[in-house]
Amino acid sequence: MERNSKIYVAGHRGLVGSAIVRNLKEKGCSNIIGRTHEELDLKDQKSVRNFFREEKPEYVFLAAAKVGGINANNIYPADFIYENLEIQNNVIKAAFDYKVKKLLFLGSSCIYPKMCPQPIKEKYLLSGYLEATNEAYALAKISGLKMCQFFKRQYGADFISCMPTNLYGPKDNFDLNSSHVMPALIRKFHEAKVNNKEFVEVWGTGTPLREFLHVDDMADGCVFLMGNYDGEEHVNIGTGKEITIRELAETIKEIVGFTGELKFNKDKPDGTPRKLLDVSKLKELGWTYKVQLKDGIKSTYHWFKENYL
Ligand code: GDP
Repeated sequence: MERNSKIYVAGHRGLVGSAIVRNLKEKGCSNIIGRTHEELDLKDQKSVRNFFREEKPEYVFLAAAKVGGINANNIYPADFIYENLEIQNNVIKAAFDYKVKKLLFLGSSCIYPKMCPQPIKEKYLLSGYLEATNEAYALAKISGLKMCQFFKRQYGADFISCMPTNLYGPKDNFDLNSSHVMPALIRKFHEAKVNNKEFVEVWGTGTPLREFLHVDDMADGCVFLMGNYDGEEHVNIGTGKEITIRELAETIKEIVGFTGELKFNKDKPDGTPRKLLDVSKLKELGWTYKVQLKDGIKSTYHWFKENYL
């Protein structure tokens, strides 16, 4: 990828896509294109093909997807499988037909089997039953990963894919009904501090372990893979480090400056006890994360105060 290469970031306004655009700009790339949902409906095959024919991007980051928390995944499985398959089918096939030099497809660590050995190696994909609550999303994403693999195998297309762990950072979803734990707790602790509340409710027992990667690191890892990887198998992107939800809550509490108590609500689900990626493949390729968790939480809290409130 050259600095003047034409790069299309699908999903450029989302948490993931916007971080990829920032990273590419920092690296001096000046010919980045994106389309909002209103400008280009990626579910519409004809429009997608017209876009690729007219714009002729050389590199594609496929970061557009229908995403949502456990609740949305549970209620709208038909929409999750259909929309994600449509988006990725249209973009991957158009990229192939209109001779894109390289494409990176983004999966997600939640599509590994429910009962995976830990830490999760790339080869564990499809080795067991999926988590029932996000089966529709997982099936679509697994198809996308496999599609890249098969276009490479059959036609020699340079299509690769990666599997990011739990992400956080600017532009995250801070809506308490649909958000993940990191933005939820940042918001809860902030509001408790401002309103002088005595405690903050933390869901579950606090014992589950999770790995968190700042989106800027994820974007850097994606751009690294674009320049340095052309294998058939997807590559995990994470830190390889995990922390309990209790430790996370205490860290956020300290950063926000809340002085009250934590109250664990055991009526809320814990989810899977542990979800850690094995990142040795990416390490061997020459990339590791940079943003330390505390620094990442501080900057995300700053972004939240500046942009969300
Ligand atoms: P998961 O990684 O797919 O399980 O998704 P989440 O990020 O939503 O939840 C991770 C863990 O954080 C679970 O054990 C939740 O019970 C716990 N948790 C604690 N407080 C909250 C909260 O306010 N919101 C969410 N979403 N999770 C919370």
